[in-house]
Amino acid sequence: MELRLYDTLTRDKRPFTPLDPANVRMYVCGPTVYDFAHIGNARPVIVFDVLFRLLRHLYGEAHVKYVRNITDVDDKINDRAARDYPGLPLNEAIRKVTEQTERQFHDDVDALGCLRPTVEPRATEHIGEMRSIIEKLVAGGFAYVEQDHVLFSPSAMNAANGVLPRYGSLANRSLDEMIAGARVDVAPYKRDATDFVLWKPSKPGEPSWPSPAGIATPGRPGWHIECSAMSWKHLGETFDIHGGGIDLVFPHHENEVAQSCCAFHTSRMAQTWMHNGFLQVEGEKMSKSLGNFVTIRELLRGWRGQAWSGDVVRWAMLQTHYRQPIDWTFDNLLAARNELAEIYIFLRSIDYELSNSGRDVVQEAGNLSPSADVVGPLLDDLNLPGAIASIRSRRSMLGKSRDAAMQVVRDLMFLGVVRSETRYVFGMSSVGQRWPAQLTTKIAGLGFDYRIACANKDEEFVKQIEERAARLGVTIESRGPLDLGLNFVSDWSDQQSIQDLIEARTAARANKDWKESDRIRDELAAMGVVLKDGKDADGKPVTTWELAR
Ligand code: AMP
Ligand code: ZN
Repeated sequence: MELRLYDTLTRDKRPFTPLDPANVRMYVCGPTVYDFAHIGNARPVIVFDVLFRLLRHLYGEAHVKYVRNITDVDDKINDRAARDYPGLPLNEAIRKVTEQTERQFHDDVDALGCLRPTVEPRATEHIGEMRSIIEKLVAGGFAYVEQDHVLFSPSAMNAANGVLPRYGSLANRSLDEMIAGARVDVAPYKRDATDFVLWKPSKPGEPSWPSPAGIATPGRPGWHIECSAMSWKHLGETFDIHGGGIDLVFPHHENEVAQSCCAFHTSRMAQTWMHNGFLQVEGEKMSKSLGNFVTIRELLRGWRGQAWSGDVVRWAMLQTHYRQPIDWTFDNLLAARNELAEIYIFLRSIDYELSNSGRDVVQEAGNLSPSADVVGPLLDDLNLPGAIASIRSRRSMLGKSRDAAMQVVRDLMFLGVVRSETRYVFGMSSVGQRWPAQLTTKIAGLGFDYRIACANKDEEFVKQIEERAARLGVTIESRGPLDLGLNFVSDWSDQQSIQDLIEARTAARANKDWKESDRIRDELAAMGVVLKDGKDADGKPVTTWELAR
């Protein structure tokens, strides 16, 4: 089967044919580094990471080049630097902010299982390329200088004949309508309201570079030109895929197309334009004032009273088709954790079995190929819900067949959920115990939380988890904070012990030994088991049980 991708420009799903299969090239707009990335920012990073993995699978690891930039010149960065480091010269303060934020971003998206892109260019290291594109645009009559600014003129672009695309074609807007709809209070240095900045003067103290197009005063680039310059430098004048969030289609990507196509006289900047849908939180747009703003770091450290590991956050994100909006809710996150926990419970047993003979399940699974029923849906415009449904449909096989379980490990690795370096993923070694079905997700949940609590060295959280465990009649035996493999040593070797106690209680009740019957009920309650007395179809008394909530 061939790969088909939806193209925002042509608005259809088409077979994907790389310009050069030996060098498949993808560019994705990266973060502006001034603060922690939020969970919405994580969405394009995860979506295009899945695509990167798929392309590597199809064309070979050495034949895919993924470029994701770091925007390190921006007013928000300057503001933050001035606020946080008032004593430092602005340029030094800016470097501190951008280096620290870049590190945080890497830590966060690493935790979400995202591979590093092939190249991560920084805007400030590509000022030369930006200047030379600007020179080309001015020379070609697409841009002009006014009051030390350089502006791009969409009208000039659309007046030119030849191969160039029309300005507005990516966003599906007509330039005439844009001009008609533009507000009248146009900046004095713009000829048309739709003209956009390629270069502008820097304010005193701000970062500045020698200006292009004969402008004497130093200045700095506009935002859009950065991506045209970095994609050109690392991927060439035209390349295969350009991605980002749907909010970037206009004006950012429209302007990138205008700059690159006019500078290089090409009809396309990228062969395929891909955009992920937006993420909102509990049905609302994420915003600091609404109090529903959530960073990746918060999720990993603790959101709504729980820490969420990277594999859970990623699994939750993968549930929705990339072009659909996501509603990020606590319930969906919890459902994702419980489902992964249930799968891991099965994987744990092969993990335990293999590790006893010195083998590593994740490493061995890595030698398998991903399943056709997982790769297949991804070939159809990255249909993630389809790929996940395939894994889900094999769940009932997991406990029965080691091969099926190994294959699921492989498929989870392919989706970036299980990582080769996370040896401890299934490390809730049960030491041969069987737990009652009602307990498995609860115990697995404990394992997840414990793993996070140890990784964060969060003593209080560890204590809280130990208490939760004790209520379930489970003790945790840690093998130390680095080897997060856990041994749950419990009385729950099977359901029989509960049944035995219930039968003893039934017998006590038949003998009207209420004291003993109450004692047994209390003993079970201490294990987290709640009894329900009722009658069966023949009117005989029966006692069923469930776990306390
Ligand atoms: P920014 O730092 O705002 O330029 O965003 C970086 C990337 O995250 C861009 O690709 C945006 O489209 C994307 N993005 C920002 N907010 C959201 C959101 N709420 N949902 C999905 N993607 C987003
Ligand atoms: Zn960009």
